[in-house]
Amino acid sequence: MTARLVDVALPLPLFRAFTYAVPDGLRHAVMPGSRVVVPFRNRTAMGIVLGESTGESLGDAEAKPVINAPDERPAFQPDLLAVGRWMADYYVSPVGMVLRAALPAAMGRARRADPAVKTHRVLRVVQSIDTLMQRDALFKRAPQQRALYELLESLGGQSPVAHLIERLGCTEGVVQALAKRGVAAVVNEPVDRDPFLSRAAPPPASVTPSAAQRDAIAALIAGAAGETFLLHGITGSGKTLVYIELLRHVLNDRGRSAIVLVPEIALTPQTVDRFRAVFGDQVAVLHSGLGEGERYDAWRALQRGDKRIAIGARSAVFAPLANLGAIIVDEEHESTYKQGEAPRYHAREVAIVRAREAGAVVVLGSATPSLESWTNAHSGKYRLLSLPDRVGGGALPKVNIVDLRNETGPNAPAAVQALRRILSAPLEAALHERLARGEQSLLLLNRRGFANFVTCPDGHVVACPNCAISLTYHRAPERLICHYCQHAEPLESKCRECGAENMKQRGIGTQQVERLLNERFPSARVSRMDVDTTSGKWAHTEILDRVGRGEVDILLGTQMIAKGLDFPNVTLVGVIDADIGINLPDFRASERTFQLLSQVAGRAGRGPKGGEVFIQTRTPAHHAVVCAVGHDYLRFVGEELPARESPPYPPTLRLANVVISGVHEVAVAECAQQAADWLGQRLDAFGDAVSLVGPAPCPIERIKGRWRWHVVLKATRAGALTQLMRAFLTRFDLPAAHEMRVTFDRDPVALL
Ligand code: ADP
Ligand code: ZN
Repeated sequence: MTARLVDVALPLPLFRAFTYAVPDGLRHAVMPGSRVVVPFRNRTAMGIVLGESTGESLGDAEAKPVINAPDERPAFQPDLLAVGRWMADYYVSPVGMVLRAALPAAMGRARRADPAVKTHRVLRVVQSIDTLMQRDALFKRAPQQRALYELLESLGGQSPVAHLIERLGCTEGVVQALAKRGVAAVVNEPVDRDPFLSRAAPPPASVTPSAAQRDAIAALIAGAAGETFLLHGITGSGKTLVYIELLRHVLNDRGRSAIVLVPEIALTPQTVDRFRAVFGDQVAVLHSGLGEGERYDAWRALQRGDKRIAIGARSAVFAPLANLGAIIVDEEHESTYKQGEAPRYHAREVAIVRAREAGAVVVLGSATPSLESWTNAHSGKYRLLSLPDRVGGGALPKVNIVDLRNETGPNAPAAVQALRRILSAPLEAALHERLARGEQSLLLLNRRGFANFVTCPDGHVVACPNCAISLTYHRAPERLICHYCQHAEPLESKCRECGAENMKQRGIGTQQVERLLNERFPSARVSRMDVDTTSGKWAHTEILDRVGRGEVDILLGTQMIAKGLDFPNVTLVGVIDADIGINLPDFRASERTFQLLSQVAGRAGRGPKGGEVFIQTRTPAHHAVVCAVGHDYLRFVGEELPARESPPYPPTLRLANVVISGVHEVAVAECAQQAADWLGQRLDAFGDAVSLVGPAPCPIERIKGRWRWHVVLKATRAGALTQLMRAFLTRFDLPAAHEMRVTFDRDPVALL
């Protein structure tokens, strides 16, 4: 009798499977989807069984035997294995790499080290120093300690020591000296403390669904296996309640399981809390703060069926739940659902495929659906459900436009002009009103740092040595930082190009607004939330919890503050500069701007006190701004869709971005030309289904020392694009020199 052979996917950048023999002793443990330890070259590797093999690929060679099969039940159930194969095909990515990306890291290794709970040293403020005078006196001869203390404050009062030392470039001695003064203390904390375990779930709100909510819930419950719904509900229309009622039915009445995807778990603790309030222990929260061991445990609990709801960011779409009944994709338009590295999948699309394989329903929820999903709902591919009103008789907030071009006359004193460029008189007055009434305000500025860039009087901008991008000026600690590669350098007083002095900072960032707020509203409690204040693992949650407890009067932040927040005492939202991002060289720039403005506006007036929004802009006539002011999604779609027809962009057709990069500028340009020629010669085979734009330098020509060129493919037929790219990625000869690399991004969220 010949040995039983199986095809195994290994995590290698090769478009092929490998054939192994199954020893008798492992016969029952080896089935499609099981993990297997196999010999590969001179080592062992962890692979996934794809299925039985004919042994064709072996030729004359003899199959090596599988060494071990550690799973009691396959790591990939049939639906997930099918999803993996679909991803490998659609995103033209080796199936072994795709499957590995879908497993917790601890399961991808041939040998699993049991991850122990580690601790690390954390510095924590133990005494606040309230007045400037106290501060000056205490830190009179200790500017470094002061900088450390203030950095710690800006990070929410607590941060790992190692992180602080790195950020400030100071020594351990400064930390010790500060602790000795008694204003801060060093404590040991477990690295993997999971706040969702210690967070008390709030009692479930008992609300009666509105008529629109009831209709949506009924339609979802009656949904067919594999059906996709687009739930278009304005901000505050009660989408979460609809999700919860669907899940209640899926779990309790049908005994099935569910996945809830959120754009970023750290930013949406409230949404997670609401699910936990209803479903308690049945919920596994998968988030990036989990240690390897915790992640593994959560995965196992889901696989065993001990937990039946997985909530998480995009990779939760791979949660190993059997008997899946529903997948929710909340805020489906968010670009965080797209994975930035290979396999560059979009979790929304993967969710739809998985639901089809598992016989589940999918709900894509948003106040501002992506144009792709909107078009699909209109063509009948998805079913559209609408929640057109705010719940409980609430109204959408009034949105006011402040045209920054008219804020000050040309003869106003320079100081007034500088102030009014950031904080217009109407917005400042509105903030004062909120403070007087004890209500809260949110201020959005989608740019971190202090100033956007630094320039000399002749216009030479200080740029990153590794990237084709200007450096951003940061304070506390003072540095110029590249937001692409983290390169940091001190600010110099002279221009490196021409030696001129008088370097000027241009373009405002959140740090600058924070300083201004502290000056203009000395008694207000201001918190800043951006990448720089949230590097601690639970910093987001801590800041948002403080807002929820009423300990923050003004929350200032980047797009982080625009998502799912639901604070009834927030009655004012201000957008400091609506124009950031509006002119990016990307076909989605208007859509992004409209979504961001609509989302942040939707944070105002979610309670009985109502709300008001001020949008500061220099382009008040831009349709992204005009439609956000009117809360008018349909009008936005009406204006944006035709703009995507000529030149054609999604959703008119499908896009793929082929980026060639390497360390040698000319070689990259040449290689991009060869790639374009190679592709161009094969287009005829597909009729008119695929066309090609480029080659051209990418909008950001260099990142981390690598030059970047791209070729953009536009396709009217998905299959044609798959075929062409598969041929290209397996057959195009990439020069071996200059660290040349090709990346393929299908359905890119941006072309930068
Ligand atoms: P969305 O996600 O659509 O912006 P949420 O689901 O956050 O809206 O709901 C907004 C608020 O309204 C929440 O505080 C929620 O508890 C409350 N809510 C939801 N449905 C109802 C209802 N039918 N009646 C009263 N309040 C409701
Ligand atoms: Zn850089």
